[in-house]
Amino acid sequence: MEDQKDHISQEENAVSVPNEEKQEEKKEEKVERFCDLCRRSEKVTGPLIELPTGQKVCRDCMEKGMNAVKNGGFDFNAMLRNLGGMPGLSFVSLNDLPNANRQPEKKAEPEKRFSMEEILPPHKIRAQLDRYVIGQAKAKKLISVAVYNHYKRIINEERRKEREKQDAKKAIPDPNVPAPVEIQKSNILMIGPTGSGKTYLVQTLARLLDVPLAMTDATTLTEAGYIGDDIESVVSKLLMAAGNDVSRAEHGIIFIDEIDKIAKKRNTNQRDVSGEAVQQGLLRLLEGAEVEVPVGATSKNAMVPLKTVNTKNILFICGGAFPGLNDIIKERLNRRSSIGFQADLKDRFDNERNLQMQATVEDLRKFGMIPEFLGRLPILFSLEALTEEMLVRILKEPENAILRQYEALLAMDEVKLVFEDDALEVIAKKALAQETGARALRQVLEEYMTDIMYEIPKDDNIGTVVITKEYLENTGGPRILLRGQG
Ligand code: ADP
Repeated sequence: MEDQKDHISQEENAVSVPNEEKQEEKKEEKVERFCDLCRRSEKVTGPLIELPTGQKVCRDCMEKGMNAVKNGGFDFNAMLRNLGGMPGLSFVSLNDLPNANRQPEKKAEPEKRFSMEEILPPHKIRAQLDRYVIGQAKAKKLISVAVYNHYKRIINEERRKEREKQDAKKAIPDPNVPAPVEIQKSNILMIGPTGSGKTYLVQTLARLLDVPLAMTDATTLTEAGYIGDDIESVVSKLLMAAGNDVSRAEHGIIFIDEIDKIAKKRNTNQRDVSGEAVQQGLLRLLEGAEVEVPVGATSKNAMVPLKTVNTKNILFICGGAFPGLNDIIKERLNRRSSIGFQADLKDRFDNERNLQMQATVEDLRKFGMIPEFLGRLPILFSLEALTEEMLVRILKEPENAILRQYEALLAMDEVKLVFEDDALEVIAKKALAQETGARALRQVLEEYMTDIMYEIPKDDNIGTVVITKEYLENTGGPRILLRGQG
């Protein structure tokens, strides 16, 4: 301990105790002196150390100060104030100095660890999705497996790290215990017409997995230095969604919508700077990178603290409608079929409703997505375009179905709401005509339900409202039953 103290005082070169002064102190022994910090008498503390400025400090206080400096938690400025201040002199923490190479803030949260018992197997993920998402059987199956594998991969990584640590300790690793293989990341690319439920699928998934989710629109992303959100802002959003818990954010999901909007422009001679550059910029994140992101904001500036988030275990899901992709698919399919037969069936794919489900990586490359980008989204699938039957089911079947929501609203007025089956078909037809997928259902319904919700509370005698086909076709009204009429 004594050695350490000597070492500290030499190294820091903050104070020294010259021998002559010690001699002098001995001469002045009769005058009782006190430590300027702890106020204890020199008789108790042992000989005081005199600072160059004349203040006297006991060994204990000096040692405490030096240790605190080493551990970074001592308020030296407070110490100076206690000593009566030294004009023009104050201590500055190195951490407070602006420095581009500053070490990123250390993560305080304990790392979240997953176990096989904790992660849901694909059939259970699928069963949960079925409660909310209608149809889309293939997509639900693929996404369930992809998510399961994603979390398995995280466990595998932890095992690999553990194994590496053990091997590092042993001179010769045990050849009988195979090291876990590295599993590739399973980011997802989802193709689907607008309103087909891409966002909804991801939202439902994140909720049931209880992981943070950040959603962003690829059109708002720009290369660093341009106006707009820079690419790393998606990670800031995820950190916010995780309540600034880095460990939670690192196992979350990032959904980037409208990904087709950052395709390279086709058939032009101009160099496309925006789309392709954003795809390039995303590569690092998709692959796994340490990103320094602002806490509580989406842009970095001097006033915002930064945290480091590793994107290695973040599941990226990109979605887009890819308009025009069907033509590329058709062209490919026609080319293939015209090899064997004459090109007599040129328009035979024109009426194929779910052509996008046959999309390949090659088609997407032609569309304008760069190969490196596609390579980092190995799971590719398409959602079905919604049919009239699917829309009717969407209206009534999910746990949070729109009809149930209206029923609940009217139940609060103690009124029962009933929809006739053929009325639902009319709603679905009208929604389909808008070509915005299931999103149109709400708009169509709202148009008719507003009047009902306005009129019903006027009359306490109304017990049931039946929405009929005639009401939706504007040829009649809803059927109103008074209380006690059934
Ligand atoms: P997209 O992201 O594909 O454009 P959304 O996910 O935003 O479409 O879908 C719009 C709304 O339609 C969702 O909020 C959801 O209520 C409903 N919806 C779409 N598809 C389905 C589906 N397959 N099952 C249940 N609801 C759906």
